[in-house]
Amino acid sequence: MKRAVVTGGAGFLGSHLCDKLLANDIAVVCIDNLLTGDLKNIEHLFGNPNFQFIKHDVTNFIHVPGNVDYILHFASPASPIDYLELPIQTLKVGSLGTHKVLGLAKEKNARFLLASTSEVYGDPEIHPQNEEYWGNVNPIGPRGVYDEAKRFAEAITMAYHRYHGVETRIVRIFNTYGPRMRLNDGRALPAFVSQALKGEDITVFGDGSQTRSFCYVSDLIEGIFRLLMSDISDPINIGNPSEITIKEFAEEVVSIMNSNSKITYKPLPVDDPKVRKPDITKAKKYLDWEPKVDRNEGLKKTIEYFQSVV
Ligand code: NAD
Ligand code: UDP
Repeated sequence: MKRAVVTGGAGFLGSHLCDKLLANDIAVVCIDNLLTGDLKNIEHLFGNPNFQFIKHDVTNFIHVPGNVDYILHFASPASPIDYLELPIQTLKVGSLGTHKVLGLAKEKNARFLLASTSEVYGDPEIHPQNEEYWGNVNPIGPRGVYDEAKRFAEAITMAYHRYHGVETRIVRIFNTYGPRMRLNDGRALPAFVSQALKGEDITVFGDGSQTRSFCYVSDLIEGIFRLLMSDISDPINIGNPSEITIKEFAEEVVSIMNSNSKITYKPLPVDDPKVRKPDITKAKKYLDWEPKVDRNEGLKKTIEYFQSVV
């Protein structure tokens, strides 16, 4: 049986990845320090003999006994509130943590997949964003701790690939949503849903004309699994190209929830990207992948999940 290590496996995306790997008969070692993750996301896996959990901070040396075939590096604070509150941990896990995890991949002769992000494109000057674009990131702004850590993580991943011959994959993940997000993680969808559930005003930042393109989690996980099993070492965008303004997105949430909440406007955070939409030509061509779940269906499932946990 093949065996995978998932760092950040107790988080939102990492826990869905653990599920996906196990469902494909790959044993999983989940490593997480529970900084922003939650054991609740993986508690259903504790009885599974092919699943193992190690509480560990991956910025320190990592020891995993036995063979390892795949390593998926997902450990990192990921929501703007989290990485603004945890700037040093965010920089450390993207840099020192990625170095340690690559070291483990080299030692085990394992294939390594990095969870990168559309944030490497920063506030983009081209639209939609394709993988050839180098980005427009402010290194010293508050978001720089996350964006630059991920840009460094991509650079060291390519260095391990070129210099040490480690088999590597890089996925640039665009905004993803679904069950197991934290209601209070500050991202747009959980914020809007929790406000609507409490009958509070919906806080749209800026004038709400900035755009995002939201991907449902099952689509993302399928794309990542296909990338892991492919032979592509260049970065690949995975996301849903269906783009919407944040104001319209807030209105959609209010409408699906039959809420009486009104929209209120708050200042736009520093360096908040004005547009974001993935060009998924490469994922379609090389992975035969495209998203299947539209926003209406995905939002309904996610809102049901949030209602079940409050
Ligand atoms: P999350 O906060 O739910 O998960 C991150 C996990 O990493 C948590 O369980 C946390 O405890 C763990 N972690 C953080 N620092 C660690 C450390 N030093 N050692 C061990 N574990 C550590 O966030 P998520 O949304 O699931 O994001 C997972 C990954 O995907 C991140 O790398 C993130 O940058 C990337 N990503 C996510 C999105 C998205 O829309 N959710 C978009 C782009 C990229
Ligand atoms: N946003 C908002 N209200 C909120 C939270 C977020 O208007 O309560 C906006 C945010 O400014 C950004 C967009 O929604 O323009 C998406 O934010 P999120 O934090 O979900 O992810 P980002 O793409 O910025 O990393």
